[in-house]
Order: sequence, then C-alpha cells, then structure tokens
Amino acid sequence: MRHIAIIGSGPAGYYTAEAAQKHFGEDVRVDIFDMLPVPYGLIRTGVAPDHQSIKGVSRRYEKTALTENVRFVGNIAIGRDVQIAELQQLYDAVVLATGAPKDRDLGIPGEHLGNVFGSAEFVGWYNGHPQFADLEPDLSGSTAVVIGMGNVALDVARMLSKTNCEFDGSDIVNHALEVLCQSKIDRVVLLGRRGPHQIMMTPKELGELAHLERAAPHVARGDLPDVGEDALLEPGLRKSVNLLRDFAATPEHIRAEKPIAIEFAFFASPHALYGDGKVKEIDIERTVLEKGRAVGTGDVARLPADLVISCIGYRTNPIPGVPFDERAGRFANDEGRIMPGLYCVGWAMRGPSGTIGTNKPDGFAIIDRIAEDIAQGTLGNGGKQGRAGFDALAATRGLDVVTFRDWKKIEEAEERAAREGAPREKFVDIEAMIRAVN
Ligand code: NAP
Repeated sequence: MRHIAIIGSGPAGYYTAEAAQKHFGEDVRVDIFDMLPVPYGLIRTGVAPDHQSIKGVSRRYEKTALTENVRFVGNIAIGRDVQIAELQQLYDAVVLATGAPKDRDLGIPGEHLGNVFGSAEFVGWYNGHPQFADLEPDLSGSTAVVIGMGNVALDVARMLSKTNCEFDGSDIVNHALEVLCQSKIDRVVLLGRRGPHQIMMTPKELGELAHLERAAPHVARGDLPDVGEDALLEPGLRKSVNLLRDFAATPEHIRAEKPIAIEFAFFASPHALYGDGKVKEIDIERTVLEKGRAVGTGDVARLPADLVISCIGYRTNPIPGVPFDERAGRFANDEGRIMPGLYCVGWAMRGPSGTIGTNKPDGFAIIDRIAEDIAQGTLGNGGKQGRAGFDALAATRGLDVVTFRDWKKIEEAEERAAREGAPREKFVDIEAMIRAVN
C-alpha cells in the first residue's frame, strides 16, 4: 500500500487524486487536506459566481471523493495544525496543490491606500471566501480602474457592471450582491500595459461584455493595429482581437444607450495611486512595446479612480522549509519534483496560468513521476503509516477534522439557504460551516 497526501482540494488536488486512483487502483490511499472545511478551492472561491457551468466540474471531483481510497481532510491548516515534515514522515508522497492564493504586488506608490484591492481579495469577497468576506469595498464613487487584461480582469469588470437580475442563478454571496446592487460605478477602465495583440482574455469571456444589460465595452479604433497584422496571431487571440474590433465598430449612440462604460485603455501602465486614506486618482504612464515588453515613455496622465482592483496575477504562499522560487512566486521544482517525497502540481508548480482543465494533465503527470520514483526506490520501501498515523496525530492534538460526509451536510445547509433560483448561499465564516456540520 502506498500513501499519498495532497495539500489543497482544488482542481489540481482532485485531478491528482483521480490520477492516483487510476494508476495504483486499490494499492493507494489518498488524503486530500484543505485549510477550509469545504472542498474544491478555486471552483468555489475563484470561478465567477455567474459561471455556474464551469463550477459543474466539481461533480467529477465528488466522484473521486466518494471512493474508498480517497479521503477529504478539511479544516486542517499546514503549519498551524500539522507540519509538512510530519506529513512527509507519514506518507510516501506529499503533493502540494496549494495554488497561488496571494495577489502579486503592483510595486507602485499608493498601492496600500484604502479601496485598492488585489483580485484574490476582491474575487474572494464576492465569492464568499472566509478570509475576504469582511473586505467592505466602497462602490459609491463613479470610476473603477481594473488593472490587467486577463480573464480575471474581465470577471471583475463584469461583476461591477451587472444588474441584480443578471445575477439570477449565480451563487454570488448576499453580502456582495447587496453592495453591488447599490454601486454607483458607471465607468470601469481596464488598464493594459501592452496593446490589443497582447491581451490575455479568451474570446468566450471577452464576448460576454457585449451582452450586458446596462454596460457596453468601449474600444477606441485608433488603438487597434492594422487588421492585416492579426493574421500572425494564434486563432484564439485572433478571435479576441476580432471582438475588440467589433466593440470599436459599435456606433457611439448605441454604446451610449448603456449607462456603464467598460473602457479599454491600452499601452497604459499604472504609475502611482493618490488619495487621502482612500484612493482617488491614478497616474498612468504611456508605454511602447520593445521586443514584446512594455516600456514607459515618461508620458504620465492622471485619471480619477474611486476603486482600484489589480488583476495582475498571483503567487503561491511559501511553506517554511520548502524551496521557493521568489521570482516566479511558486515552489522551486523540476517538473513537479521538489525533493524526494515532496511534489507540487497545478499553479503551485507552474504559476497562475491556464484553465481548470490544464490541471488534469498536470495531475496525471505528477502521479506518473511518483510512480517512477517508487519504481526507482527513491521513496523507500513503503510501510508508512498514512492515514492511520495522521488520525492518531489528529486525536492527540484534538484537531477538528471535517470529512467529506461533513462537507455534504454543509452543502445541504447552503442549498437550503439559497435565494430563489440560486444554487446555494455559501457560509462565509468557518464557525458557521462547523456549526452546520454539528
Ligand atoms: P493573466 O491571464 O496572466 O493576466 C494578467 C494581466 O495582468 C496581463 O494582462 C498582464 O499584462 C497584466 N499585468 C501583470 N503584471 C502587471 C503590472 N505590473 N502592471 C500592469 N499589468 C500587469 O492572469 P489572470 O487574469 O489573473 O488569470 C489567471 C489564469 O486564470 C489565466 O490562465 C486565466 O485564463 C485563468 N482564468 C480563466 C477564467 C475563465 O476561463 N473563465 C477566468 C478567470 C481566470 P502582461 O501581459 O503585459 O504581463
């Protein structure tokens, strides 16, 4: 019998567990740890609440979770309840599937002013992550600046623009819905430090901006390169750029029918933020592309900014004693191998890129490596205690483990509490989750 501990119950964690099952069959026991009492990581707290079909992938993870050889060990934080070295003693392989939950810093003056948030915080807030439920963003101003031109920036711009009715069927948490419904924001500026050919937005997600009830995307024709230059783009990006061209071609009087403008500002790099406690303005510097990189021109202009959300990517949380690549913001690893018996997968391995589906080949590949290492004798001869050892440790420490069966009770309570038409109303604090179990 081989014992594998996976830290993190998001897509990377569950695909790794599924791969372990398929590879080792009955000869493996997998424990999936999570610091929250609820599983699925970014599926629950990252994927936009109005993208319910994407969240449906959790049914596949549930199939894995309900098998005998995979177990959910919720409400257990590494570093607080158990140390990574202890898990290494107990399990043949420990796989860090901890994602990249920390916002990257902007590195500009004023970024710690009030009403300036990273997307992990803001997305966590509207998705009911217990860590960010108390964020209290102030949406009483008129201009929001969203920094970055990726899919997260699109999610944030969409959330700031939707009407109450457009959230029907979503699982946006009540505290966020109430604030968004009172929002006075009528201008959302998407700031890209490079140009239309360098956006990271995928066509399906970008196209949604054209179908919002009270918001319209604004792209200046003059910002778009010659159409002939699109031929060199890879097909997905070309589709996205075509959408930008459609947005630019929409007559002004049609756009003006919608009271919220989502403006694309290209070649505009955030330079500094100003305000009196709370952000009020942003300086942006014009950039030019040099060998694909944005380079400042020294031409700086000031814009109003009542709310700033930076959607510029994420970093993995370091774990003491685990080698970390500071520059890349993830664990130092060679194709997922960190050191004998210690692995990483998903965003913790490769950084915050790709879709949920990208984690599937990642999970299968890391299990192949573990199997190779077992075959080569790198992981010893087995005989580790695995889950029995962890259970003994948890009992000694009085740890309050939340099992998958417990999670199903939380899930049922969330479904019962749902607004009409919504799939669930999430608990946003850990005590409430635990109370639902008991
Ligand atoms: P992303 O796709 O990497 O986009 C980050 C954006 O931030 C880029 O436009 C980048 O510009 C910009 N940026 C980075 N550093 C900056 C700085 N210092 N100043 C100004 N701009 C800066 O990241 P993301 O949007 O966080 O998304 C993460 C991953 O999740 C992506 O793979 C994304 O596709 C995925 N995701 C998917 C969905 C979906 O499929 N529905 C939804 C959300 C997220 P440069 O290109 O110039 O660096």
